[in-house]
Amino acid sequence: MASWDVIVVGAGPAGSMAASAVRPGQRVLLVDKRRVVGHPVQCAGGLSAQALSWHGLKPDPSWVLVPIEGIRNWSPDGTSSTLRMKGYEVDRARFDQALAARAQEHGAELRLERRLRALSRHDGLWRADFGAEQHEAPIILGADGPESTVARLAGLPRNTRLFLGYQYVLPVREGMLEPWFELFWSSALQGGYTWIFPRGETANVGVGGGGFLKPYLDAFCRAHGLDPEKRCEINAGKIPVGGPVSPLVRNGIALVGDAGGLCNPCTGGGIHAALHSGVLAGRAAGQAVTAEDPAQLAAYEARVRREPYAAPVLAKAAEIFSTLRDEEWSFLNGLSRHRLTREVPLSEAFWGLLRHPRFWHRARDFYRLRSAAIIYEQYGW
Ligand SMILES: Cc1cc2nc3c(=O)[nH]c(=O)nc-3n(C[C@H](O)[C@H](O)[C@H](O)COP(=O)(O)OP(=O)(O)OC[C@H]3O[C@@H](n4cnc5c(N)ncnc54)[C@H](O)[C@@H]3O)c2cc1C
Repeated sequence: MASWDVIVVGAGPAGSMAASAVRPGQRVLLVDKRRVVGHPVQCAGGLSAQALSWHGLKPDPSWVLVPIEGIRNWSPDGTSSTLRMKGYEVDRARFDQALAARAQEHGAELRLERRLRALSRHDGLWRADFGAEQHEAPIILGADGPESTVARLAGLPRNTRLFLGYQYVLPVREGMLEPWFELFWSSALQGGYTWIFPRGETANVGVGGGGFLKPYLDAFCRAHGLDPEKRCEINAGKIPVGGPVSPLVRNGIALVGDAGGLCNPCTGGGIHAALHSGVLAGRAAGQAVTAEDPAQLAAYEARVRREPYAAPVLAKAAEIFSTLRDEEWSFLNGLSRHRLTREVPLSEAFWGLLRHPRFWHRARDFYRLRSAAIIYEQYGW
């Protein structure tokens, strides 16, 4: 049995950032069930520039595939609106590996092929059972993704509203795609969307939402001149869209990143929130270890709930998304006309709505969507 100050379960962006943020000299174990960090990929690799700059991370050629100008939102009626928000299409596996290496440089011990199976309490410590190995620590950070085993074993709440994301990596002709994240909204996906993210010679083409996703994605590919049979990779995963779970912390255990429902439920983008909540959890864990008081981990929950990605209006907006009809998507996209939401004067939105009496009963919902869009346009993808 080995003893640690902090055990971090999951070496995704949340776990690696948490392990890097614990204080120097503290003994941190970073564990993942995977054989290779980041594999298999379950992500489209879209990252905003803010997600890096907030954390002092520099875009690195080893994992940046394409610099991106922003997001182009396509309405069901075929019109589009662009939002200039610089970002990067990244190789998710290499990105995760770089973060895990950084955690090791900060002193964390990384162990792979360790699947958490049980948690128990002994003399004020948590004992984590990985089958062949057992480890003890006063603090455990659950950074183990949307269907968190840590949450289940610790009796903490789990994400209940989950979308499925399903994606192909497809070859594309040179010059076929521009450096934009293309999002295609449709009421058929119950709040979800289809995407095309350029990767150079290939693209990530995927769909997230409710309903039967594979036939939808195949038809989407064909409609965009892409042959789904030529896919060189398929990846899929769950996306929490219900907002942060509550509580996030109990008895020296904290949930971080997707495990705590900390992502943007409107877009499903969760890397930024994973990085940031990871840092906050790691710092709070470091402080609690120094004070020899695991109860101080509660500071993480108080802090993370003030962050933009935890704002309740985002989860509310995601619910509203799932009820929008095609013509409402088109109306909202039409209002934006290539501006960030905060640049669209409220008076203009009001007059736009006034011209469409059939949408009047939606005014409150549209206002909430506006608030949510302003939040995530500020903090990035
Ligand atoms: C199809 C798809 C496309 C997406 N595209 C984007 C995108 O373009 N941009 C974006 O920002 N977000 C995207 N997301 C969301 C993004 O991938 C997640 O929000 C992000 O990975 C969350 O990071 P995390 O560290 O919290 O969890 P994860 O990255 O899921 O890492 C969790 C880690 O925990 C490990 N683990 C799980 N259970 C155990 C266990 N019992 N024992 C040990 N280890 C365990 C896993 O192996 C994994 O390595 C997408 C998601 C999907 C499914």
